[in-house]
Amino acid sequence: MNQSSNAPAPVILTIGGFDPSGGAGIAADLKTFAAHNCYGVAAITAMTVQNTQGVSALFPVDSSVTKECVTCLLADGRVKAVKIGMLANRANAEVVREFLDSNASLPSVLDPVIRSSSGTNLVDAAGLEFLREHLLSRVQVITPNRDEAAALTGLKIENIEEMKTAAQKLIEMGARAVVVTGGHLDKATDVYLDGTELQTFVADRVKPDHTHGTGCTFSSAIAANLALGRQLRDAVVLAKAYVTEAIRKAYSTGPGRLPLNHLYRMQQTPRLADHTPVIPEPVH
Ligand code: PLP
Repeated sequence: MNQSSNAPAPVILTIGGFDPSGGAGIAADLKTFAAHNCYGVAAITAMTVQNTQGVSALFPVDSSVTKECVTCLLADGRVKAVKIGMLANRANAEVVREFLDSNASLPSVLDPVIRSSSGTNLVDAAGLEFLREHLLSRVQVITPNRDEAAALTGLKIENIEEMKTAAQKLIEMGARAVVVTGGHLDKATDVYLDGTELQTFVADRVKPDHTHGTGCTFSSAIAANLALGRQLRDAVVLAKAYVTEAIRKAYSTGPGRLPLNHLYRMQQTPRLADHTPVIPEPVH
C-alpha cells in the first residue's frame, strides 16, 4: 500500500444493514475499507436498532431505495469490488441479483447474514431462499459462519471435518469459492475451498467477548484485498490476520458483545495529541 496521500483509493461498494452501534454492518465495512486504504460507498438494505447487548428492532429499507442507491453509486463509474451483507428480505436480494448480473466481472464477496449472535433474524425466509437459489452462484466467494453454513446446507456442523463437508456441499450448490468461518472453535479455524483447493487457516482465539461484527469485518477485508488486486486465497489469509489483530487491539464500548478495533492500524502511528497543530490566534 505505497499510495501517496492523494493517490486515488479503490472504491468498494457495500450493500447491507446499518448497525448504529458501529460494530457490524455498513459501519464496520466502511471502517474496514478505510483501514485498507480503500474508499467505501454504501447502499443500506435495513436500519437496525442495536447496541452491544443485542438487536431490538429492524426496519428494512424499501428495495426501490436500495436499487436507486446502488444505481446512483455505480453511475460514478469507480466501483472496484462489492461486499454484500445483511439483505433483510427477498426484495433487497432481488436488487442484488440484478446488480450482480450487470456487473459480473466485479470482484464480489457475499457474507450470507442470517441471524445476529443475539438471536434476531436479519433476513426473512423468502430472502434466505432467494439467496441460496440465486446469489450463492453469482459471487466470487461466500463467507458463512458455522450456523450460516448449516442453515444453507441443512447439515449439522460441529467440527472442522463437518465444516469441510459443508464447504464441499456449498460448492456443489453452485458457490465458486467458500470460506466457512470457525470462530467458535478452540482455535479460530476457517475452511477455505475454491473448488479445487481445500485449506484450513488457523489463528489464536483472542478476546472472545469481542466478536460483534467479526463476520462483516472479515468479508469486507476480503473485498478490500480483492479491490487492491490480490488473489482470492491471499485476500482471505490477509483478512484473517487483520480480523485477529483488530480483535486483539479491541477495547470496551459497552456491557455486551463488543466490537473489533477496525482502525487499530491508524493508532500505531503517534496519536494526534503528540502532533497537535498550532491553531493560529483569530485576527480581529
Ligand atoms: N447487524 C448487522 C447490520 C449485521 O450485518 C450483522 C451481521 O452480519 C449483525 C448485526 C450481527 O452481528 P453479530 O452477530 O456479529 O453481532
